[in-house]
Amino acid sequence: MEAQIIDGKKVAADFREQLAGRVEKLRERGIVPGLTAVLIGSDPASASYVRSKKRGAKKLGMNSQVIELPADTSQRKLNDVIDQLNANDAVHGYIIQLPLPSQLNVHESLYRIRPEKDADCFHPENVGLLTLGRPRFMPATPGGIIELLKAYDIQTSGKEVVILGRSDIVGRPLSIMLSQKSAQGNATVTVCHTRTKNWTTHTKNADILVAAVGRPDTVTADMVKPGAVIIDVGMNRIEDPQAKKGYRLVGDVDYQGVSEVAGYITPVPGGVGLMTVSMLLANTVTAAELTVK
Ligand code: NAP
Repeated sequence: MEAQIIDGKKVAADFREQLAGRVEKLRERGIVPGLTAVLIGSDPASASYVRSKKRGAKKLGMNSQVIELPADTSQRKLNDVIDQLNANDAVHGYIIQLPLPSQLNVHESLYRIRPEKDADCFHPENVGLLTLGRPRFMPATPGGIIELLKAYDIQTSGKEVVILGRSDIVGRPLSIMLSQKSAQGNATVTVCHTRTKNWTTHTKNADILVAAVGRPDTVTADMVKPGAVIIDVGMNRIEDPQAKKGYRLVGDVDYQGVSEVAGYITPVPGGVGLMTVSMLLANTVTAAELTVK
């Protein structure tokens, strides 16, 4: 039987409708939630993510701007920009689009963001609050995945979850959230990475399998337990002369093969990515709400 598709487009649309209500309430009080993205250099994928964040914010009636800096921006210049954003009351939340050019220090840059404006939830204070089960913001991709599971009434309590990838932005925070004593947690979580000896022994046990590796076809049908929920986070551009842009986007999962074994599956595109942007917008709205509480 073919797996049921988890429709990120539909879930994101419902989620953003609710968010629009929160934006409206703020606007009635004279507050227009504002999101700024700092884009350094001209990486096409980063530029495209930033554009979709700006579009999403505008559609919700939020303010949004992109600060574009050249690829050779110095740390001192970036620090000045961060300090200005920290001091600007019209900017409720902002992000520094990653990855950064090599002369810039990711930690120094992210830690300088005022935690109350940290729309990506990357600052150690916000990571700490999240880890303690008292989140101020949601890390965008893990938060989006949890919303997708909720929308399809997929329970996590008592389930075996296997996450492929342990990055600070996806695998690690998601593993913390799903193992917490909470309504969307209570799972038994295994995290796999480059030092994991045999992935399949783990993946075969997974009721919920999350792939966040950055490599096409990492998950194949033989690695999946029948009926499992498959969340494909990967966003890989592969060359395709037939495609208008010369490339197409694929995830980390062999979608065709795995669909025949899994119970649920997220497509790429049209799955996790749309929810990631939605959570970023939600964090900005939360940041604006916090200024009036
Ligand atoms: P990352 O920082 O590069 O981390 C990748 C993780 O996968 C690491 O933990 C790494 O292990 C592991 N890994 C990589 N290659 C492996 C291999 N051959 N065997 C075993 N483990 C391997 O990546 P990320 O930022 O988490 O992103 C992962 C993917 O998700 C990318 O395709 C990215 O574009 C996509 N993404 C999508 C969204 C979205 O909204 N849909 C959001 C964020 C990221 P080690 O730790 O041992 O190196």
